[in-house]
Amino acid sequence: MRSSPVSKNQFASDNYSGICPEAMEALAMASAGFANAYGEDDYTAKACNLIRDFFETDCEVFFAFNGTAANSLALASLCQSYHSIISHELAHIETDECGAVEFFSNGTKLLLAPGANGKVSPEAVEQIVLKRTDIHYPKPRVLSLTQSTEVGTVYSKDELAALKAVANQYGLRVHMDGARFGNALASLNCSAKEITWQAGVDVLTLGGTKAGLPVGEAVVFFNKELAEDFGYRCKQAGQLASKMRFLSAPWIGILETDAFRNRAAHANKCAARLAQELRTVTGITLVHPVQANAVFVQMPEALIDAIKQRGWHFYTFIGSGHARFMCNWATQPEDIEALMVDVREAAAAL
Ligand SMILES: *Cc1c(COP(=O)(O)O)cnc(C)c1O
Repeated sequence: MRSSPVSKNQFASDNYSGICPEAMEALAMASAGFANAYGEDDYTAKACNLIRDFFETDCEVFFAFNGTAANSLALASLCQSYHSIISHELAHIETDECGAVEFFSNGTKLLLAPGANGKVSPEAVEQIVLKRTDIHYPKPRVLSLTQSTEVGTVYSKDELAALKAVANQYGLRVHMDGARFGNALASLNCSAKEITWQAGVDVLTLGGTKAGLPVGEAVVFFNKELAEDFGYRCKQAGQLASKMRFLSAPWIGILETDAFRNRAAHANKCAARLAQELRTVTGITLVHPVQANAVFVQMPEALIDAIKQRGWHFYTFIGSGHARFMCNWATQPEDIEALMVDVREAAAAL
């Protein structure tokens, strides 16, 4: 086998990681025999039931190939083209989905809210809703929240309750982009229902890829009426997998074993440790509270270049434009140590 160009564990994205063992085992099992196509198989039925158990409610579950599709199609099902969706200005649906939400919803407009640490505040939502109420402005219909956020913070239960109240007051449906839902769950150490349907979430994009799956996210409708015809929407958008079991079976692996939560907790712990180390380096300051698996730091441009020159990959274009170090289920203490050796050496040589 040829070695990959990225042979060490990097900190660029949780997407760099491989498939976690629990998902891999389930995937291999699903591949061992034959199964019905297009989601009519036992693995898919079981994965849906495990997701229902996980959220402790009867919900409608679909699988999509990626987060962009899951978010866009979920949001399109919540609004008409003349509606608008309120989100944070750093939201993935705004900054990283190439206009897919607008495309799949036939033009629904995103209305952007500022807010500290990647979070939308109830006040900002209210301000946007009340800014214009005339016929010439797209009517606010959805509030989209990212949990955990694009900058590695987490909405607390109280914050979600306050947002739910304002959403109810103004008749907004609530979508949650949970590309890193597992990290939020591990961070809050609560049950999944408490921060979803009990917190007013109508539909959740439940992230699998970054959690250790080979590919795929689930779309979970807690408000089942909104799921009407969603299967057709998926099919039309090219999101109905013929060999659906390979999208669904890995969920069985990570839910039956609690790996979904435990491996996210591990990634969070790694990020906390990395943050502790980074903040001791002269010239480096943390930009946001580290509440999930991301560490955002401010550091001199020359230091960024020097660390990259030593072979490390990390992003500087996400969120507020600072350096982002991402941990994942496979991050090891040695990876953090190796990075820190280079960071310290590079900082000392400046
Ligand atoms: C990674 C991510 C997604 C999904 O991105 P895809 O590349 O489309 O799978 C969605 N939302 C957030 C916040 C993400 O970080």
